[in-house]
Amino acid sequence: MVSLWNDNIERPEFPSLEKDIKTDVLIIGGGIVGLLTAYFLQEIGVPYVLAEKGKICGGTTGNTTAKITFQHGLVYDKILRSRGAEIAEIYLRANMAAFEKYGEMCKNIDCGYERRDNYVYSRSDRKKLEDEMSALAQIGYKAKFCESVPLPVDTVGAVCFKEQAQFHPLKFLFSIAKGLNIYEHTFVREMIGTTAVTDRGKIRADKVIVATHFPFINKHGSYFLKLYQHRSYVIALENAADVGGMYVDECRTGFSFRNYGSLLLLSGGGHRTGKDGGNWNELRRFAEKYYPHSQEKYFWAAQDCMSLDDMPYIGRYSKSTPEMYAASGFNK
Ligand SMILES: Cc1cc2nc3c(=O)[nH]c(=O)nc-3n(C[C@H](O)[C@H](O)[C@H](O)COP(=O)(O)OP(=O)(O)OC[C@H]3O[C@@H](n4cnc5c(N)ncnc54)[C@H](O)[C@@H]3O)c2cc1C
Repeated sequence: MVSLWNDNIERPEFPSLEKDIKTDVLIIGGGIVGLLTAYFLQEIGVPYVLAEKGKICGGTTGNTTAKITFQHGLVYDKILRSRGAEIAEIYLRANMAAFEKYGEMCKNIDCGYERRDNYVYSRSDRKKLEDEMSALAQIGYKAKFCESVPLPVDTVGAVCFKEQAQFHPLKFLFSIAKGLNIYEHTFVREMIGTTAVTDRGKIRADKVIVATHFPFINKHGSYFLKLYQHRSYVIALENAADVGGMYVDECRTGFSFRNYGSLLLLSGGGHRTGKDGGNWNELRRFAEKYYPHSQEKYFWAAQDCMSLDDMPYIGRYSKSTPEMYAASGFNK
């Protein structure tokens, strides 16, 4: 079960920690969050170290579907209702800024970066789509309503964000990781204040950024009460279809579609981790019915941390840990 991204790619190598060290900022975890954080700290000259327990990008990041968009399901109407227009607009602008930054960085990296329209479709609830359109209009973003999408699913319409993007996540991340201060095979077993204890050395730091996907320090923050895991399955099909964009069902158990080269990535079968779900069988049944001449080239599965209010948790780890930060709950 190797994801398309993990197949046939040259991985950069990094040493493991063998002695006690000191740094300004310790980043724990070498997925997309840890690596981007390290990259930006390096850019502004802040001394830092990144500790990764295995190889970088060995977690969820290596098993994503890698769509870069500021359209995250039908999130804007939800935020508008629960937190008001100001917060919904801040969320939009922050994500637009991140989107622009990806575009800038990808210009100089051979990582299959391509602009594509992104669609969130619904199979049954047109009102939800209309509410999202009016929430977006209220916070100043002009989305497009589409009556149909070129997919073999019956829909009642879709909300489209023009000119979003897709890429090969590991080509991008392995490129930016070159030259960063990374220790691989360096498992942070315990934190004593802002000192990390690993198997062969301690890392003393002024600040700590926990980028471990699920924030692993349970003494603070109570993330075990605020996050749950949701698992999704992916198959990559040859001889399926060029769907001409990126598509996701507004319903968490629905399908998502994007192409990579000649492959169609079909994702879905999702369920809360530990519960039953459609998994690959559901995807394979769909492929057999609608893409009967296709061949499955890759299959994989991964889970992501889901937050209770559909907003990621990024910032202070907890009130009582002013030197510690977390970033999690990206809701896929
Ligand atoms: C099927 C699927 C499709 C998705 N599609 C998209 C998409 O299209 N677009 C999008 O933006 N997002 C998507 N997501 C979400 C996105 O992929 C994840 O939110 C993101 O990759 C999480 O990155 P991360 O760096 O937080 O975690 P990870 O990639 O899991 O990295 C965490 C790292 O921390 C390390 N670590 C953990 N504990 C320790 C420790 N104690 N000491 C040292 N190291 C440690 C792990 O080994 C790991 O390498 C998708 C998710 C899934 C599951």
